[in-house]
Amino acid sequence: MEYRELGKTGLKTSLLGFGGFHLLEIPQKEAGALLNAYLDAGGNYIETAASYGNGESERKIGASVMHRRADFVLTTKVGDREKAAAAAKIDRSLKNLRTDHVDIILLHGMESVDALNRSLAEDGAYQAALEAKKAGKALHVGISMHGQPAPLLAALKTGKFEAVMSTINYYDRCNFPEIEGELLPLAREKGAGVILMKPIADGYLYRNAERAFRYAFSRPVSVVVAGINNRQMLDMDLRFAEAYAPMSEGEELELLKTAPELGSYVCRQCGSCAGACGKGIDIKEVFASEAYYDRQMMRGAVGDTAQYALSERLKFWFGQKQQGIDRYARLSPNADACDGCGACLPGCPYGVDIPYKMHLAGYKLDAKEIY
Ligand code: SF4
Ligand code: SF4
Repeated sequence: MEYRELGKTGLKTSLLGFGGFHLLEIPQKEAGALLNAYLDAGGNYIETAASYGNGESERKIGASVMHRRADFVLTTKVGDREKAAAAAKIDRSLKNLRTDHVDIILLHGMESVDALNRSLAEDGAYQAALEAKKAGKALHVGISMHGQPAPLLAALKTGKFEAVMSTINYYDRCNFPEIEGELLPLAREKGAGVILMKPIADGYLYRNAERAFRYAFSRPVSVVVAGINNRQMLDMDLRFAEAYAPMSEGEELELLKTAPELGSYVCRQCGSCAGACGKGIDIKEVFASEAYYDRQMMRGAVGDTAQYALSERLKFWFGQKQQGIDRYARLSPNADACDGCGACLPGCPYGVDIPYKMHLAGYKLDAKEIY
């Protein structure tokens, strides 16, 4: 398996990382067998969080692999924003993990720039992480968030974080194009390691897992973390990592054109339709608002029932619905101005049914209490 530098930390991580959240779903014995099999196969990055099962994931990892602590990079996350609470949580994590240090501590799920500022204050969580670093309890400090990356961009600009963890997959690149367009270049400029999470979008891309992993491995990231809770899944993910060959630009375009989860509904945010609407609607921005709202998952039709069930579970997973509504509220004209003329259709290289989608997006984003 390929190993990559984790920014300027001096750490080298295997292409496939082991995400510990789903260890909650299996007994200790199976969790231990999976973790050790992953390490035996050459994997060297194990990640968890203090909040996963209120320490249960950490305890399972602590009970399973600490006899070979030197074999892997260990990351946990702390979600508290105040210094005292975060310091106590870091100590609890070390106890749960049965180790005297983690390699990386991530400030977990930084949901807003306000939360970031609170964490960076004198009495904020960042100070706790920094003190843990000085004490040798955590070797590096990073930050994580899923979905829209504004807090991560702000965090990297401070130059205080050595690693950043973000959602990256071929589905959500259409919902949060700032991640690949802005966050990855900024991370590179700052020398921060990038930890990729959700390569198959929490299961949404399960039918295309091989191509989804290949897309993820082909990003300029240090490690791709997958949640694993059974042997079949571990073996499959390892196989993908071992067979990895970078995706060419042509293959990537082909994926974006043909992926069934994207189809003729998801706007790829390419901008080719700029100026195409005679009514002056900013088509791309309406759909970007919809992407923040529900990741373009509610499509007004059930279609494939398994995919529909997944979208019902995942559509508001990132909790950025209100941000979509606020973004849309700034638009004038908005989707209401669309008369369905279809003049924009030839301009979309992905065959998005713009009039239909415009109608549905306007309905969702009109701040109605429909959900
Ligand atoms: S279908 Fe709607 S968005 Fe497209 S050009 Fe006509 S009015 Fe504009
Ligand atoms: S051309 Fe199509 S995919 Fe590109 S921004 Fe416009 S609607 Fe979205």
